[in-house]
Amino acid sequence: MAKKSDLTLISPTCRRKIDLLETHRLWLKRAAEIALASPEKGGSPHPSVKVGAILVDAKGLEIAHAANGFAHGIDRRRPERYENGARSLWINCAEQMVIAKAARNQADLKGAKLYVTLEPCAICAGLLVECGICEVIVPLSSRRSYAKLKAKWKKSIEIGSSKLMEAGVKVTVVDVSSTR
Ligand SMILES: [Zn+2]
Repeated sequence: MAKKSDLTLISPTCRRKIDLLETHRLWLKRAAEIALASPEKGGSPHPSVKVGAILVDAKGLEIAHAANGFAHGIDRRRPERYENGARSLWINCAEQMVIAKAARNQADLKGAKLYVTLEPCAICAGLLVECGICEVIVPLSSRRSYAKLKAKWKKSIEIGSSKLMEAGVKVTVVDVSSTR
């Protein structure tokens, strides 16, 4: 007996949810590619924690993208800046870099969404709230790697998460690996 296509059994509301999920996955994949690109091409110079971030406006258009890295004019070739205890002070989070980029382009961030490959730290979460970001989308893999983080970063992400929740910023966790 011929079976109806699975797609015809999906309601329009459900269809929209699947499309939204697919959109989230594409942006998160792109954010991961940005993070992993060579530093010369805007990727992260961090030896182990490579984070990509993309700001998207309400119409679904990209505002700006960035990876965690050194601010303009700061020399990233000096090895001592990568030492334990120093690199988190020298290297800016991807969220800060992407917001700065958007600010340079005088973009309006109110109601924008942020796709980021690692959950925001406490400092960045406060910054996102201040900028009027309405939603932060992170991959599920970001949550899975949480257990491996150092205690100070866990604390920072926990406080970041509380800040986002308290200020009404929606946090969406997307499983990037699975397919439809
Ligand atoms: Zn941060």
